[in-house]
Amino acid sequence: MKTDVLVVGGSVAAIRAAETIARHAPDLGVIIVSDEEHPPYERPPLSKVGLTDDLDLAALTYPSVADLQSKGVRFVLATRATYLDVAARRVDTLDASGATGSIEYGAVIVTTGCEPIVPPLFRDLPDVYSLRHFQDATALRSAVSDRSRSVAVIGAGFIGGEFAATLAKDGRDVTIVDLAEKPLGRFGDRVAADYAALHRDSGVALKLGDGVVGLADTPDGRVLQLASGATVPADVVLLGIGVRPSTDWLASSGLTLNNGVECDEHLRAADRVYAAGDVVRWPNPRFDSVMRIEHWTNAAEQGRVAGMNAANVLTGADPVVCSTVPYFWSDQHGKRIQFSGFITGAEEIVESQGPDGSLFVYRSGDAVTGVLAFERRAEFVKLRAMLRRETSWESVEPMLTLVSSAP
Ligand SMILES: Cc1cc2nc3c(=O)[nH]c(=O)nc-3n(C[C@H](O)[C@H](O)[C@H](O)COP(=O)(O)OP(=O)(O)OC[C@H]3O[C@@H](n4cnc5c(N)ncnc54)[C@H](O)[C@@H]3O)c2cc1C
Repeated sequence: MKTDVLVVGGSVAAIRAAETIARHAPDLGVIIVSDEEHPPYERPPLSKVGLTDDLDLAALTYPSVADLQSKGVRFVLATRATYLDVAARRVDTLDASGATGSIEYGAVIVTTGCEPIVPPLFRDLPDVYSLRHFQDATALRSAVSDRSRSVAVIGAGFIGGEFAATLAKDGRDVTIVDLAEKPLGRFGDRVAADYAALHRDSGVALKLGDGVVGLADTPDGRVLQLASGATVPADVVLLGIGVRPSTDWLASSGLTLNNGVECDEHLRAADRVYAAGDVVRWPNPRFDSVMRIEHWTNAAEQGRVAGMNAANVLTGADPVVCSTVPYFWSDQHGKRIQFSGFITGAEEIVESQGPDGSLFVYRSGDAVTGVLAFERRAEFVKLRAMLRRETSWESVEPMLTLVSSAP
């Protein structure tokens, strides 16, 4: 097989890249190779859709898939990329039936994202789940459908928190266990306290600052054994302890792999090789920092930039720069948590509490570099828009009713 642009990976970065090429360089041929059996679909609902609601794959599938197909974009599904030969401009593949193949390209875009971390203690155990793909979500939902089975979530981050919230909404008991004493602690102690309170007030049990050291079967069902000696009922376990970039297939490609695929500010990793999404580490000019982001909006934005640059290298146009303001949202217990910006942990945090939620503004000298909100949606939208450019503390301060600030 041969194509102008080959996109490896089948999620949001891939679909945005293909849409961009179809719009700006419609004469270029595009192939998307994904190891999933489904065309690209939305992942965020997988941890948020209520347990009694339908998880409908057709509704989650990106609407542009059909349009792209009609424009000649080819989706090669259930097929894994196994090797990238940069000099020969070729990707080798292995499909679900065991057949090998190869695709020659004019330019390639790597969008292979991330995969969940599964520590050795949990490997190959029954009823231990990760949540990344549609199949993971259907298997997990099926496992918890028997209300007599206890559920434990390991990891108090967004995926664990969101799934715990869907269980609590359904009136289920659930415990979140996390080694860290302060969940979301990188955003500061008060954010961690508000986040923990949100869960506790909604009926989720939290075991924080305690690690899982084993699992044991008891007459009452399986339990997690914690370092403190405590046990947590855990017939079903969701692991939400983080992800790592899916770069194993690139090990001998010669690309620089360092907690992701290293790219320049054009998302270029090598000659005619671009990357986008969770898998990328790149120097973001907006914050003058090298970063890798694991959130949907970044993957979408980078997909567009990488798609444009892959097309541009083939049409002779200049590359565009990838300068973004990282953003994420999370929905838990009926509250929207949002963050925009880039923080290192050294910022002063200025807090504004109100009856309708709280805002945390991250200040580095005279500059504001981030904002996190529990609800407070209207103010957040304004602050997020301001952060697109360098933002001074003087311009933000009047918008806040200050309560306290902490280094
Ligand atoms: C349950 C869940 C909820 C989320 N909720 C939110 C949210 O509320 N807000 C938010 O900002 N972000 C959220 N995210 C994160 C967001 O979905 C990711 O940032 C986004 O999906 C990253 O997109 P991507 O295209 O970079 O990679 P991914 O979505 O990781 O997709 C990579 C694709 O490449 C495929 N692939 C991997 N290796 C190969 C290979 N060798 N060959 C072929 N194909 C391969 C994978 O199977 C996958 O289809 C959530 C993620 C999950 C899992």
